[in-house]
Amino acid sequence: MKEPVVAIVPAAGIGERFGRDTNKPFATLGDKPLIIWTVATLQNLPEITEIIPVVKETDIKLCSRLFEEYAITKIKRVAPGGRERQDSVFHGLNLIRHRKSVVLVHDAVRPLIEPSLIQSALQQLNGCDGVVVGVPLKDTVKEVRDGIVRNTPKRDLLWAAQTPQIFPYQVLYDAYEKAMADSFYTTDDSALVEMNGGVIKMVQGSYANIKVTTPEDLLIAEVFLKMKRGSA
Ligand code: C5P
Repeated sequence: MKEPVVAIVPAAGIGERFGRDTNKPFATLGDKPLIIWTVATLQNLPEITEIIPVVKETDIKLCSRLFEEYAITKIKRVAPGGRERQDSVFHGLNLIRHRKSVVLVHDAVRPLIEPSLIQSALQQLNGCDGVVVGVPLKDTVKEVRDGIVRNTPKRDLLWAAQTPQIFPYQVLYDAYEKAMADSFYTTDDSALVEMNGGVIKMVQGSYANIKVTTPEDLLIAEVFLKMKRGSA
C-alpha cells in the first residue's frame, strides 16, 4: 500500500464494566499493559506509518512514559479522549493532516490481534469504502425491549464486528463529520460509513481477538496469550 496508513487507537474509556482502579487499557496482560501489546503490534507492522493513541488527560503522563519505555517510535502525537468512543476517534481523526491517508481504527483493549490479519484486512480495502474484521456469531441474538423479546434475527447472517476497521481517510472523515453534525452516536466506526452510503467489506477475523471489557475477559486473554506462546 503506497498511501500512509495511520492507526487511531482509542484508549480513553472509563472502564465502568471493569470495576478496578486501573483504567482497562493499562491493566496488565502477561508482562505488560494491554495498550502496549496493541501498539507494539502496530509498531512492528511495516505498513503502519503512524500511531495516534487517544487517551484521557489524566493518563497522558503514564502513556508517554510507557511508549518511551517500550520504544513505540511511531507515536508522535496523542489525541485527548472524549465523552463517547465516537468523540475519542473523532479527536484522533482531527489530527490527521494527510487527506490521502488510510485510517485504521483499532481498540486499545484488543491486544491479541494477529499482525497477519491486519495485513490481509489492509489488502482488501481496494475498491470499497471500508473493511471490518469480524466473526460469525455463535449465539442467537434477541432484540429485547422492556424485558420482552421483540425480534430474533436469522443467525446465519449475523457477524460480530471487531476492530481493526480500515477506511480511506476522507470517507471516514465525511461520515464522522455528518454524524457529529447530526449528534448521531454509535459504537462502531463502519456503521457511520454505511449510513453515509459506503460499501463495507467484512473480513473473517479471529475469536481470539477479544475486547477486554470485564475482569473475566482478562483471564480469557491470558489463556489465548499462552496458546499463542505455545504454552497452554
Ligand atoms: O467500552 P468500549 O467498547 O466503547 O471501548 C472500546 C475502546 O474505545 C476501548 O479501547 C476504550 O478505551 C475506547 N474508548 C475511548 N473513549 C471513550 C470510550 C471508549 O477511547 N469515551
